[in-house]
Amino acid sequence: MRFCIICGKRTDELYNNMCRECYKENTELVRVPEVINITICPECFSYMFRGKWEKAENPYDIHDVVHDAILRNLAPKVKYIARAVKSMDVILDKSIKLVPYKKSKIDVTLLVEGLVDERVGYFMKSYNLKANIRWRLCPLCFKVKAQVEEAILQIRADGRKLDDDEILRIRNLVEEILYQAYEEEGKSPLIKVEEDKKSGGMDLYFA
Ligand SMILES: [Zn+2]
Ligand SMILES: [Zn+2]
Repeated sequence: MRFCIICGKRTDELYNNMCRECYKENTELVRVPEVINITICPECFSYMFRGKWEKAENPYDIHDVVHDAILRNLAPKVKYIARAVKSMDVILDKSIKLVPYKKSKIDVTLLVEGLVDERVGYFMKSYNLKANIRWRLCPLCFKVKAQVEEAILQIRADGRKLDDDEILRIRNLVEEILYQAYEEEGKSPLIKVEEDKKSGGMDLYFA
């Protein structure tokens, strides 16, 4: 009779000098990232996958949407250690409050069923990670909103006029933000920039 190096149980059935239970406990099936970033449209619940927007399968349940978005984005980032993986699923705590437009960092569990040693067979293992949920309008919803919403951002110095240097710095900053928006959405939300001579400020018009 031999014994398990972990728990000391006496058995002849050993895998890497461990009993079946300890082997499962101490053998990894996959490696998962600590954090995963997810971007979801707060209006239609489409989500980003590999730089493209994907329609949500069930856009009526925010937990389903977040679940799908995480699983989809996580799967390609999981490194397999197991020789075969039969199933992989994301477990979300349904009591987690998910609110569109509100950034959140949530705990997620990835459940994996995999095979490392034929004699042991398939077994389940769970992995914990965090998911950053970020919200951004998809181009379609952005277009719809652009037709109905308009915003003016007025930039004023308190009790005086903006000087040339300040105007230049604001313009550069705005250009930087718009360039970023253009890169991400393929268009820019700014319609026009006007200097308001009377107040010495700037007005930015957004669609
Ligand atoms: Zn053991
Ligand atoms: Zn959308």
